[in-house]
Amino acid sequence: MLLKHTPKEITERKALMINPAKTCQPIGAMYAALGIKGCLPHSHGSQGCCAYHRSTLTRHYKEPISAATSSFTEGASVFGGQANLLQAINNIFTVYAPEVIAVHTTCLSETIGDDLPQIFDKAIKEQKVPEGKTVLGANTPSYVGSHVTGFSNMVKSMANLAEKSGKKNGKVNIIPGWVEPCDMEEIKRLAAMVGVKITMFPDTSGVLNGPLTGEYKMFPDAGTSIKDIKASGDAIGTLALGEWCSADAARLLDTKCKVPCSVLDMPFGLQATDRFVDALRKVSGTTVPDEVAAERGQLVDLISDMHQYFYHKKVAIFGDPDQLIALTEFLVSIDMCPIHIVTGTPGKKFERRIKEITKDMPYKVNVKAAGDMFLLHQWIKNEPVDVLIGNTYGKYIARDEDIPLVRWGFPILDRQGHQYFPTVGYKGGIRLLEKILGVLLDRLDRDNTEEKFELVY
Ligand code: SF4
Repeated sequence: MLLKHTPKEITERKALMINPAKTCQPIGAMYAALGIKGCLPHSHGSQGCCAYHRSTLTRHYKEPISAATSSFTEGASVFGGQANLLQAINNIFTVYAPEVIAVHTTCLSETIGDDLPQIFDKAIKEQKVPEGKTVLGANTPSYVGSHVTGFSNMVKSMANLAEKSGKKNGKVNIIPGWVEPCDMEEIKRLAAMVGVKITMFPDTSGVLNGPLTGEYKMFPDAGTSIKDIKASGDAIGTLALGEWCSADAARLLDTKCKVPCSVLDMPFGLQATDRFVDALRKVSGTTVPDEVAAERGQLVDLISDMHQYFYHKKVAIFGDPDQLIALTEFLVSIDMCPIHIVTGTPGKKFERRIKEITKDMPYKVNVKAAGDMFLLHQWIKNEPVDVLIGNTYGKYIARDEDIPLVRWGFPILDRQGHQYFPTVGYKGGIRLLEKILGVLLDRLDRDNTEEKFELVY
Protein backbone atom coordinates (compact mmCIF):
# COMPACT_ATOMS: atom_id res chain seq x y z
CA MET A 1 0.00 0.00 0.00
CA LEU A 2 2.65 2.50 1.05
CA LEU A 3 5.02 1.47 -1.71
CA LYS A 4 2.63 1.63 -4.68
CA HIS A 5 4.76 4.30 -6.31
CA THR A 6 8.02 2.32 -6.42
CA PRO A 7 8.98 2.48 -10.11
CA LYS A 8 10.05 -0.59 -12.03
CA GLU A 9 12.83 1.25 -13.86
CA ILE A 10 16.07 1.25 -11.91
CA THR A 11 18.16 4.42 -12.03
CA GLU A 12 21.55 4.71 -10.38
CA ARG A 13 21.47 6.36 -6.94
CA LYS A 14 24.66 7.40 -5.20
CA ALA A 15 23.64 9.78 -2.44
CA LEU A 16 20.20 8.56 -1.44
CA MET A 17 19.07 5.50 0.49
CA ILE A 18 15.35 4.70 0.62
CA ASN A 19 14.06 2.34 3.32
CA PRO A 20 17.48 1.04 4.43
CA ALA A 21 17.76 -2.66 5.20
CA LYS A 22 19.46 -1.96 8.52
CA THR A 23 19.10 0.00 11.72
CA CYS A 24 21.53 1.97 13.87
CA GLN A 25 24.73 0.77 15.57
CA PRO A 26 23.74 1.26 19.24
CA ILE A 27 20.83 -1.18 18.90
CA GLY A 28 23.34 -3.95 18.22
CA ALA A 29 25.60 -2.78 21.04
CA MET A 30 22.64 -2.76 23.43
CA TYR A 31 21.54 -6.27 22.41
CA ALA A 32 25.08 -7.62 22.90
CA ALA A 33 25.39 -5.92 26.32
CA LEU A 34 22.17 -7.61 27.49
CA GLY A 35 24.01 -10.92 27.10
CA ILE A 36 26.36 -10.06 29.99
CA LYS A 37 25.16 -11.15 33.43
CA GLY A 38 24.10 -8.25 35.65
CA CYS A 39 24.71 -5.64 32.96
CA LEU A 40 22.91 -2.35 32.46
CA PRO A 41 23.49 -1.00 28.94
CA HIS A 42 24.10 2.74 28.83
CA SER A 43 23.52 4.98 25.84
CA HIS A 44 25.92 7.93 25.79
CA GLY A 45 23.82 10.49 23.96
CA SER A 46 20.37 12.01 24.02
CA GLN A 47 17.29 10.46 25.62
CA GLY A 48 15.67 10.13 22.20
CA CYS A 49 18.36 7.76 20.92
CA CYS A 50 18.07 5.55 23.98
CA ALA A 51 14.27 5.46 23.78
CA TYR A 52 14.45 4.38 20.13
CA HIS A 53 17.01 1.65 20.81
CA ARG A 54 15.11 0.28 23.79
CA SER A 55 11.74 0.33 22.05
CA THR A 56 13.09 -1.46 18.96
CA LEU A 57 14.49 -4.26 21.13
CA THR A 58 11.32 -4.38 23.24
CA ARG A 59 9.13 -4.66 20.16
CA HIS A 60 11.18 -7.56 18.79
CA TYR A 61 11.84 -9.51 22.00
CA LYS A 62 8.52 -8.63 23.68
CA GLU A 63 10.41 -8.00 26.92
CA PRO A 64 11.01 -4.72 28.77
CA ILE A 65 14.55 -3.54 27.97
CA SER A 66 16.30 -1.59 30.72
CA ALA A 67 19.00 0.87 29.67
CA ALA A 68 20.33 4.16 31.00
CA THR A 69 21.17 7.31 29.07
CA SER A 70 23.56 10.26 29.49
CA SER A 71 20.55 12.50 28.70
CA PHE A 72 22.38 15.06 26.59
CA THR A 73 20.84 18.50 26.37
CA GLU A 74 22.18 21.62 24.63
CA GLY A 75 24.99 22.04 27.20
CA ALA A 76 26.44 18.56 26.70
CA SER A 77 26.13 18.94 22.93
CA VAL A 78 28.35 22.03 23.05
CA PHE A 79 30.77 21.29 25.90
CA GLY A 80 30.95 17.47 25.66
CA GLY A 81 29.26 14.70 27.59
CA GLN A 82 31.94 13.88 30.17
CA ALA A 83 30.11 15.43 33.12
CA ASN A 84 26.89 13.62 32.20
CA LEU A 85 28.59 10.24 31.89
CA LEU A 86 30.49 10.61 35.17
CA GLN A 87 27.29 11.46 36.97
CA ALA A 88 25.44 8.64 35.22
CA ILE A 89 28.05 6.04 36.27
CA ASN A 90 27.79 7.23 39.86
CA ASN A 91 23.98 7.24 39.84
CA ILE A 92 23.63 3.84 38.15
CA PHE A 93 25.94 2.00 40.56
CA THR A 94 24.31 3.76 43.54
CA VAL A 95 20.67 3.28 42.53
CA TYR A 96 20.53 0.07 40.43
CA ALA A 97 23.71 -1.76 41.55
CA PRO A 98 24.50 -3.66 38.33
CA GLU A 99 27.72 -5.71 38.06
CA VAL A 100 28.56 -4.07 34.76
CA ILE A 101 27.75 -0.92 32.84
CA ALA A 102 28.24 -1.33 29.08
CA VAL A 103 28.42 2.12 27.48
CA HIS A 104 27.93 2.68 23.78
CA THR A 105 28.24 6.00 22.03
CA THR A 106 25.78 7.58 19.61
CA CYS A 107 26.05 9.87 16.58
CA LEU A 108 26.03 12.95 18.80
CA SER A 109 28.69 11.93 21.34
CA GLU A 110 30.92 10.67 18.51
CA THR A 111 30.57 13.95 16.64
CA ILE A 112 31.50 15.88 19.78
CA GLY A 113 34.49 13.54 20.15
CA ASP A 114 33.92 12.21 23.67
CA ASP A 115 36.74 9.85 24.65
CA LEU A 116 35.25 6.87 26.53
CA PRO A 117 38.51 5.36 27.92
CA GLN A 118 39.56 8.76 29.29
CA ILE A 119 36.14 9.25 30.94
CA PHE A 120 36.25 5.72 32.41
CA ASP A 121 39.74 6.42 33.85
CA LYS A 122 38.45 9.56 35.47
CA ALA A 123 35.41 7.71 36.87
CA ILE A 124 37.71 5.08 38.42
CA LYS A 125 40.07 7.75 39.86
CA GLU A 126 37.09 9.58 41.34
CA GLN A 127 35.89 6.27 42.88
CA LYS A 128 32.63 6.28 40.99
CA VAL A 129 33.15 2.63 40.00
CA PRO A 130 32.80 0.41 43.11
CA GLU A 131 35.42 -2.28 43.78
CA GLY A 132 34.79 -5.42 41.70
CA LYS A 133 32.42 -3.71 39.26
CA THR A 134 33.12 -3.22 35.57
CA VAL A 135 32.59 -0.47 33.04
CA LEU A 136 33.21 -1.20 29.37
CA GLY A 137 32.49 0.77 26.25
CA ALA A 138 32.14 0.63 22.48
CA ASN A 139 32.23 3.31 19.82
CA THR A 140 29.04 3.05 17.81
CA PRO A 141 28.49 6.11 15.60
CA SER A 142 25.51 5.39 13.41
CA TYR A 143 26.58 7.35 10.38
CA VAL A 144 28.80 4.36 9.56
CA GLY A 145 28.06 0.65 9.73
CA SER A 146 24.78 -0.75 11.02
CA HIS A 147 23.28 -2.54 14.03
CA VAL A 148 25.53 -5.46 13.03
CA THR A 149 28.74 -3.44 13.41
CA GLY A 150 27.43 -2.05 16.70
CA PHE A 151 26.94 -5.60 17.95
CA SER A 152 30.42 -6.58 16.78
CA ASN A 153 32.03 -3.55 18.42
CA MET A 154 30.46 -4.31 21.79
CA VAL A 155 31.46 -7.99 21.60
CA LYS A 156 35.01 -6.90 20.78
CA SER A 157 35.01 -4.76 23.94
CA MET A 158 33.98 -7.86 25.90
CA ALA A 159 36.89 -9.81 24.39
CA ASN A 160 39.18 -6.98 25.43
CA LEU A 161 38.42 -7.90 29.07
CA ALA A 162 39.96 -11.36 28.59
CA GLU A 163 42.98 -12.21 30.73
CA LYS A 164 45.63 -14.88 30.23
CA SER A 165 46.75 -16.74 33.35
CA GLY A 166 49.16 -19.00 31.50
CA LYS A 167 47.10 -22.14 32.30
CA LYS A 168 44.53 -23.38 29.78
CA ASN A 169 41.07 -24.10 31.22
CA GLY A 170 40.03 -26.71 28.63
CA LYS A 171 37.06 -24.68 27.47
CA VAL A 172 36.14 -23.46 23.99
CA ASN A 173 34.88 -19.93 23.48
CA ILE A 174 31.85 -19.62 21.24
CA ILE A 175 30.96 -16.18 19.97
CA PRO A 176 27.50 -16.81 18.57
CA GLY A 177 26.85 -13.54 16.73
CA TRP A 178 23.50 -11.80 16.65
CA VAL A 179 21.09 -14.69 16.81
CA GLU A 180 17.93 -15.14 18.85
CA PRO A 181 18.17 -16.08 22.55
CA CYS A 182 16.69 -19.50 21.65
CA ASP A 183 19.40 -19.94 19.01
CA MET A 184 22.01 -19.35 21.71
CA GLU A 185 20.32 -22.07 23.79
CA GLU A 186 20.40 -24.39 20.80
CA ILE A 187 24.11 -23.73 20.19
CA LYS A 188 24.80 -24.57 23.85
CA ARG A 189 22.69 -27.73 23.57
CA LEU A 190 24.58 -28.89 20.47
CA ALA A 191 27.95 -28.19 22.12
CA ALA A 192 26.88 -30.17 25.21
CA MET A 193 25.77 -33.09 23.02
CA VAL A 194 29.20 -33.14 21.37
CA GLY A 195 30.74 -33.06 24.87
CA VAL A 196 32.44 -29.67 24.57
CA LYS A 197 32.81 -27.36 27.56
CA ILE A 198 32.16 -23.84 26.36
CA THR A 199 32.06 -20.21 27.36
CA MET A 200 29.61 -18.38 25.15
CA PHE A 201 29.52 -14.63 25.01
CA PRO A 202 27.31 -12.77 24.71
CA ASP A 203 24.47 -15.02 25.84
CA THR A 204 20.99 -13.50 25.87
CA SER A 205 19.18 -16.80 26.52
CA GLY A 206 17.14 -16.51 29.69
CA VAL A 207 17.48 -12.73 29.52
CA LEU A 208 15.28 -11.95 26.52
CA ASN A 209 13.19 -15.12 26.38
CA GLY A 210 12.79 -15.74 30.11
CA PRO A 211 9.62 -17.02 31.75
CA LEU A 212 6.94 -14.81 33.29
CA THR A 213 7.20 -15.66 36.99
CA GLY A 214 5.24 -12.81 38.50
CA GLU A 215 8.42 -11.46 40.08
CA TYR A 216 10.34 -8.68 38.33
CA LYS A 217 14.11 -9.02 38.31
CA MET A 218 15.99 -6.11 36.82
CA PHE A 219 18.96 -8.41 36.23
CA PRO A 220 17.84 -11.97 35.41
CA ASP A 221 20.01 -14.82 36.59
CA ALA A 222 21.34 -15.37 33.06
CA GLY A 223 23.94 -14.03 30.65
CA THR A 224 27.70 -14.56 30.62
CA SER A 225 29.44 -13.49 33.83
CA ILE A 226 32.36 -11.08 33.72
CA LYS A 227 34.41 -13.80 35.45
CA ASP A 228 33.81 -16.17 32.54
CA ILE A 229 34.50 -13.46 29.95
CA LYS A 230 37.82 -12.69 31.64
CA ALA A 231 38.67 -16.42 31.71
CA SER A 232 38.05 -16.66 27.94
CA GLY A 233 41.73 -15.74 27.58
CA ASP A 234 42.60 -19.21 28.94
CA ALA A 235 40.41 -21.15 26.48
CA ILE A 236 41.85 -23.76 24.12
CA GLY A 237 40.19 -22.13 21.12
CA THR A 238 37.47 -19.81 19.88
CA LEU A 239 34.73 -20.51 17.34
CA ALA A 240 33.44 -17.25 15.96
CA LEU A 241 30.09 -17.61 14.20
CA GLY A 242 29.83 -14.98 11.49
CA GLU A 243 32.50 -12.80 9.92
CA TRP A 244 30.54 -9.58 10.51
CA CYS A 245 29.29 -10.18 14.06
CA SER A 246 31.98 -12.22 15.75
CA ALA A 247 35.30 -12.32 13.89
CA ASP A 248 36.79 -9.10 15.28
CA ALA A 249 36.34 -10.26 18.88
CA ALA A 250 37.79 -13.70 18.12
CA ARG A 251 40.83 -12.20 16.38
CA LEU A 252 41.40 -9.86 19.31
CA LEU A 253 41.38 -12.85 21.69
CA ASP A 254 43.89 -14.54 19.42
CA THR A 255 46.22 -11.52 19.33
CA LYS A 256 45.85 -10.58 22.98
CA CYS A 257 45.76 -13.99 24.70
CA LYS A 258 46.97 -16.38 21.98
CA VAL A 259 43.64 -18.24 21.85
CA PRO A 260 43.50 -19.68 18.30
CA CYS A 261 40.28 -18.88 16.47
CA SER A 262 38.24 -20.27 13.60
CA VAL A 263 35.74 -18.01 11.91
CA LEU A 264 32.75 -20.03 10.67
CA ASP A 265 29.45 -19.21 9.07
CA MET A 266 26.47 -19.06 11.38
CA PRO A 267 25.07 -22.59 11.69
CA PHE A 268 21.88 -22.05 9.69
CA GLY A 269 21.06 -24.98 7.39
CA LEU A 270 22.61 -28.34 6.74
CA GLN A 271 26.13 -27.58 5.54
CA ALA A 272 26.90 -24.68 7.90
CA THR A 273 25.70 -26.80 10.85
CA ASP A 274 27.86 -29.70 9.63
CA ARG A 275 30.89 -27.40 9.64
CA PHE A 276 30.03 -26.08 13.12
CA VAL A 277 29.62 -29.57 14.59
CA ASP A 278 32.85 -30.67 12.91
CA ALA A 279 34.71 -27.66 14.29
CA LEU A 280 33.39 -28.43 17.79
CA ARG A 281 34.60 -31.99 17.46
CA LYS A 282 38.05 -30.99 16.21
CA VAL A 283 38.77 -28.20 18.66
CA SER A 284 37.89 -30.31 21.68
CA GLY A 285 38.99 -33.73 20.44
CA THR A 286 35.58 -35.35 21.01
CA THR A 287 33.38 -37.44 18.73
CA VAL A 288 29.93 -36.64 17.36
CA PRO A 289 27.30 -38.80 19.12
CA ASP A 290 24.53 -40.73 17.36
CA GLU A 291 21.90 -38.31 18.69
CA VAL A 292 23.38 -35.46 16.66
CA ALA A 293 23.62 -37.68 13.56
CA ALA A 294 19.94 -38.60 14.06
CA GLU A 295 18.91 -34.92 14.17
CA ARG A 296 20.86 -34.36 10.97
CA GLY A 297 19.10 -37.33 9.38
CA GLN A 298 15.69 -35.87 10.26
CA LEU A 299 16.56 -32.63 8.45
CA VAL A 300 17.79 -34.58 5.40
CA ASP A 301 14.56 -36.61 5.47
CA LEU A 302 12.41 -33.47 5.42
CA ILE A 303 14.44 -32.05 2.53
CA SER A 304 14.03 -35.20 0.46
CA ASP A 305 10.30 -35.53 1.26
CA MET A 306 9.49 -31.96 0.32
CA HIS A 307 12.10 -31.28 -2.37
CA GLN A 308 9.50 -31.15 -5.15
CA TYR A 309 7.94 -28.05 -3.56
CA PHE A 310 11.25 -26.27 -3.06
CA TYR A 311 12.75 -27.09 -6.47
CA HIS A 312 13.69 -23.97 -8.46
CA LYS A 313 11.41 -21.68 -6.47
CA LYS A 314 12.71 -18.13 -6.75
CA VAL A 315 13.39 -16.34 -3.49
CA ALA A 316 14.22 -12.76 -2.47
CA ILE A 317 16.01 -12.38 0.86
CA PHE A 318 17.17 -9.40 2.91
CA GLY A 319 18.68 -8.84 6.34
CA ASP A 320 22.09 -9.15 7.98
CA PRO A 321 25.16 -10.47 6.17
CA ASP A 322 26.11 -13.42 8.40
CA GLN A 323 22.54 -14.75 8.37
CA LEU A 324 22.08 -14.21 4.64
CA ILE A 325 25.30 -16.02 3.68
CA ALA A 326 24.28 -19.14 5.61
CA LEU A 327 20.66 -18.93 4.42
CA THR A 328 21.70 -18.53 0.78
CA GLU A 329 23.86 -21.63 1.04
CA PHE A 330 20.98 -23.54 2.65
CA LEU A 331 18.46 -22.49 -0.01
CA VAL A 332 20.84 -23.34 -2.86
CA SER A 333 21.53 -26.75 -1.25
CA ILE A 334 17.82 -27.64 -1.44
CA ASP A 335 17.56 -26.38 -5.05
CA MET A 336 15.75 -23.14 -4.25
CA CYS A 337 16.99 -20.09 -6.12
CA PRO A 338 17.72 -16.95 -4.09
CA ILE A 339 17.87 -14.41 -6.92
CA HIS A 340 17.61 -11.05 -5.08
CA ILE A 341 19.76 -10.60 -1.97
CA VAL A 342 20.15 -7.33 -0.07
CA THR A 343 21.86 -6.40 3.16
CA GLY A 344 21.93 -2.88 4.53
CA THR A 345 25.29 -3.53 6.19
CA PRO A 346 28.29 -2.46 4.11
CA GLY A 347 31.02 -4.89 3.00
CA LYS A 348 32.01 -5.93 -0.54
CA LYS A 349 33.08 -9.31 0.87
CA PHE A 350 29.38 -10.07 1.26
CA GLU A 351 28.74 -9.70 -2.45
CA ARG A 352 31.75 -11.90 -3.27
CA ARG A 353 30.60 -14.67 -0.90
CA ILE A 354 27.05 -14.67 -2.26
CA LYS A 355 28.27 -14.77 -5.87
CA GLU A 356 30.51 -17.71 -5.03
CA ILE A 357 27.66 -19.64 -3.34
CA THR A 358 25.19 -18.99 -6.16
CA LYS A 359 27.55 -19.37 -9.12
CA ASP A 360 25.96 -22.60 -10.42
CA MET A 361 22.36 -21.45 -10.05
CA PRO A 362 20.26 -21.43 -13.25
CA TYR A 363 19.23 -17.76 -12.81
CA LYS A 364 21.09 -14.45 -12.68
CA VAL A 365 21.58 -13.24 -9.10
CA ASN A 366 21.23 -9.64 -7.90
CA VAL A 367 23.19 -8.97 -4.72
CA LYS A 368 23.96 -5.74 -2.90
CA ALA A 369 25.68 -4.78 0.34
CA ALA A 370 24.76 -1.36 1.80
CA GLY A 371 21.57 -1.70 -0.23
CA ASP A 372 17.99 -0.74 0.54
CA MET A 373 14.47 -2.11 0.40
CA PHE A 374 13.56 0.23 -2.46
CA LEU A 375 16.10 -1.46 -4.74
CA LEU A 376 14.94 -4.90 -3.58
CA HIS A 377 11.37 -3.94 -4.49
CA GLN A 378 12.49 -2.76 -7.93
CA TRP A 379 14.37 -6.00 -8.56
CA ILE A 380 11.24 -7.97 -7.59
CA LYS A 381 9.11 -5.91 -9.95
CA ASN A 382 11.51 -6.76 -12.78
CA GLU A 383 11.95 -10.44 -11.84
CA PRO A 384 9.14 -11.70 -9.55
CA VAL A 385 9.80 -14.29 -6.85
CA ASP A 386 7.79 -17.08 -5.22
CA VAL A 387 8.69 -16.17 -1.67
CA LEU A 388 10.26 -13.31 0.26
CA ILE A 389 12.32 -14.01 3.42
CA GLY A 390 13.28 -11.25 5.85
CA ASN A 391 12.14 -9.11 8.74
CA THR A 392 8.84 -7.34 9.32
CA TYR A 393 9.68 -4.49 6.96
CA GLY A 394 9.25 -6.89 4.05
CA LYS A 395 5.49 -6.94 4.60
CA TYR A 396 4.98 -3.80 2.52
CA ILE A 397 6.65 -5.37 -0.53
CA ALA A 398 4.90 -8.69 0.15
CA ARG A 399 1.52 -6.96 0.18
CA ASP A 400 2.14 -4.82 -2.86
CA GLU A 401 3.49 -7.67 -4.97
CA ASP A 402 1.28 -10.40 -3.47
CA ILE A 403 4.22 -12.57 -2.40
CA PRO A 404 4.25 -14.88 0.64
CA LEU A 405 6.57 -13.55 3.36
CA VAL A 406 8.57 -15.72 5.76
CA ARG A 407 9.50 -13.60 8.76
CA TRP A 408 13.10 -14.30 9.77
CA GLY A 409 15.82 -11.99 11.06
CA PHE A 410 15.70 -8.73 12.99
CA PRO A 411 13.44 -6.96 13.71
CA ILE A 412 10.20 -8.91 13.76
CA LEU A 413 7.69 -6.54 15.24
CA ASP A 414 4.37 -8.07 14.26
CA ARG A 415 4.66 -11.77 15.11
CA GLN A 416 5.66 -13.99 18.04
CA GLY A 417 7.73 -17.14 18.41
CA HIS A 418 11.09 -16.05 17.05
CA GLN A 419 12.54 -15.76 20.56
CA TYR A 420 11.43 -19.31 21.46
CA PHE A 421 11.90 -21.48 18.34
CA PRO A 422 15.52 -21.70 17.17
CA THR A 423 16.46 -21.71 13.50
CA VAL A 424 20.14 -22.66 14.01
CA GLY A 425 21.35 -26.25 13.95
CA TYR A 426 19.62 -29.26 12.41
CA LYS A 427 16.44 -28.80 14.43
CA GLY A 428 16.45 -25.13 13.51
CA GLY A 429 16.84 -26.09 9.85
CA ILE A 430 13.64 -28.14 10.14
CA ARG A 431 11.88 -25.12 11.64
CA LEU A 432 13.07 -22.87 8.81
CA LEU A 433 11.98 -25.28 6.11
CA GLU A 434 8.63 -25.81 7.83
CA LYS A 435 8.06 -22.05 7.74
CA ILE A 436 9.01 -21.76 4.04
CA LEU A 437 7.02 -24.84 3.06
CA GLY A 438 4.01 -23.55 4.99
CA VAL A 439 3.73 -20.34 2.98
CA LEU A 440 4.42 -22.10 -0.35
CA LEU A 441 1.68 -24.69 0.23
CA ASP A 442 -0.75 -22.08 1.59
CA ARG A 443 -0.25 -20.22 -1.66
CA LEU A 444 -0.90 -23.40 -3.68
CA ASP A 445 -4.10 -23.96 -1.70
CA ARG A 446 -5.18 -20.39 -2.36
CA ASP A 447 -4.43 -20.36 -6.07
CA ASN A 448 -5.08 -23.90 -7.30
CA THR A 449 -8.18 -24.64 -9.33
CA GLU A 450 -10.79 -26.91 -7.73
CA GLU A 451 -9.57 -29.93 -9.70
CA LYS A 452 -6.05 -29.41 -8.41
CA PHE A 453 -7.00 -28.57 -4.82
CA GLU A 454 -5.16 -31.25 -2.84
CA LEU A 455 -5.90 -32.77 0.56
CA VAL A 456 -2.49 -34.41 0.86
CA TYR A 457 0.92 -32.98 0.01
S1 SF4 B 1 21.03 7.05 14.11
FE1 SF4 B 1 22.31 8.19 15.60
S2 SF4 B 1 20.99 9.87 16.28
FE2 SF4 B 1 19.65 8.33 15.35
S3 SF4 B 1 18.96 7.01 17.04
FE3 SF4 B 1 20.80 6.06 16.14
S4 SF4 B 1 22.48 6.83 17.37
FE4 SF4 B 1 20.74 8.20 17.78
